[in-house]
Amino acid sequence: MNFMFRQILDQAAAVLVPPTCVLCGAPGKAGLDLCAACRDELPRNRHACPRCALPLPPAVAANAWCGACLQRPPPYTDAFVPYLYRDRIRALITGAKFSGRLNFLRLLGLCLADSAREAGITRPDLILPVPLHPHRMRTRGYNQALEIARVLGKELVIAVDGDTCVRLRAITPQEGLEKEARKRNVHGAFGVTAPLKAGHVALLDDVVTTGSTAAEVANTLLQAGARRVDLWAVARTP
Ligand SMILES: [Zn+2]
Ligand SMILES: [Zn+2]
Repeated sequence: MNFMFRQILDQAAAVLVPPTCVLCGAPGKAGLDLCAACRDELPRNRHACPRCALPLPPAVAANAWCGACLQRPPPYTDAFVPYLYRDRIRALITGAKFSGRLNFLRLLGLCLADSAREAGITRPDLILPVPLHPHRMRTRGYNQALEIARVLGKELVIAVDGDTCVRLRAITPQEGLEKEARKRNVHGAFGVTAPLKAGHVALLDDVVTTGSTAAEVANTLLQAGARRVDLWAVARTP
């Protein structure tokens, strides 16, 4: 089933079927396929480095940078990553990415929008999703980061640009690679089709692991004319 058709089916279902929690089957909250109890149990990334969103031990002072950022700050200015990549968030993200559960993407976008409002984030001029390689795009049929960005942009009334930044070459999966190897793996993998007009860009991904991919895209965007790049994502690996 192609992406457009699935999207139409999802939208039709959203109108016809009352919201039902995708995690436990209980009635959902208004317009959200998630019940209040499951929402409260989503693993939050509450105590994290403000620069890279790395979860920090409770003993570390609030808003303190992590050791890695103190040594070598990343090219992005702020990180907004409200959830941890485990339990139900992991189930929602993997379902959205690998099982074609497109309604999960909408759900993640809405949760991210709520968290952004709660956190009082600094508003960017533009949300720019991390691009997928065209080959991956063809096999999956959609870019999960772009779909989450669309929901988020609509909710927060911020423009979304899914075209200007492109992936120039495929990246071997980053899983299992050490941080330095990840950096080498993504070096030169992104480019832009036109100079960026937006000064302040929020770069959006679904999951941040070491931040090497995000750093590479952020550098590309800064070179393309962005004044400031923030990193936004749904979840951070511990
Ligand atoms: Zn539930
Ligand atoms: Zn950090």
